[in-house]
Amino acid sequence: MAHIAITACSRLEDYKQAILHAGGEVHIVDSSMSVTDALNGMDGLLLTGGDDVAPTRYGEEKHPAVKAVAPERDEFEIALVREARKRDLPILAICRGIQVLNVAAGGSLVQDIPTQVTGALEHKQTVPPHQPFDLAHEVWLEKDSLLTKLMRERLSDADSVEVNSRHHQSVKTLAEGFEVSATAPDGVIEAIEDPAARFCLGVQWHPENFWRTGEFRPLFEGFMEAANKVSHAHS
Ligand code: MN
Repeated sequence: MAHIAITACSRLEDYKQAILHAGGEVHIVDSSMSVTDALNGMDGLLLTGGDDVAPTRYGEEKHPAVKAVAPERDEFEIALVREARKRDLPILAICRGIQVLNVAAGGSLVQDIPTQVTGALEHKQTVPPHQPFDLAHEVWLEKDSLLTKLMRERLSDADSVEVNSRHHQSVKTLAEGFEVSATAPDGVIEAIEDPAARFCLGVQWHPENFWRTGEFRPLFEGFMEAANKVSHAHS
């Protein structure tokens, strides 16, 4: 069974369930650990949601709307991503995770979509009685991307998919070597991937919230398939 490192966050349950249902073993990692200890014996890395990455991490002044409150988490997760990429461990990065992934690889972020993107859609679902699995907007998928390949069976012939949305930041300058795999109709980047990696995919929405109904199960299954290959290489 493949061992998956999941970064600690305040809403862990759905991430855990999504990995367990895809056949993985869950290990929670946080900044109290060294990066080496966190990744030893691991076959994949799942980066979870949370607060904004400090803009100093990508060389920008902080926008007033930025709530960057987790310097230890930034430090730990950026180092974790760099080490995981060195080892070519499969990476699935969700919400804050896609942002950490892009920054760790040298990219930058839109700090506040509502004030910095003209004509932006509503990316922050807050209207009660909102459920985490309520859909917010569609994303347009890049034709030959890993993301589209994974989602193909669920999509039939569609080239877009409805997603939930709980973010006010997004990828701005793409890290070198990465490609955009999905974009919202307002131009906000919603998914990225590194085609040279074994498996390295970041999504801006929350696929883990759908573990009961399976809308995005192929993302977790594809991630686990890549992690299982690492696991077999170990044994
Ligand atoms: Mn969105």
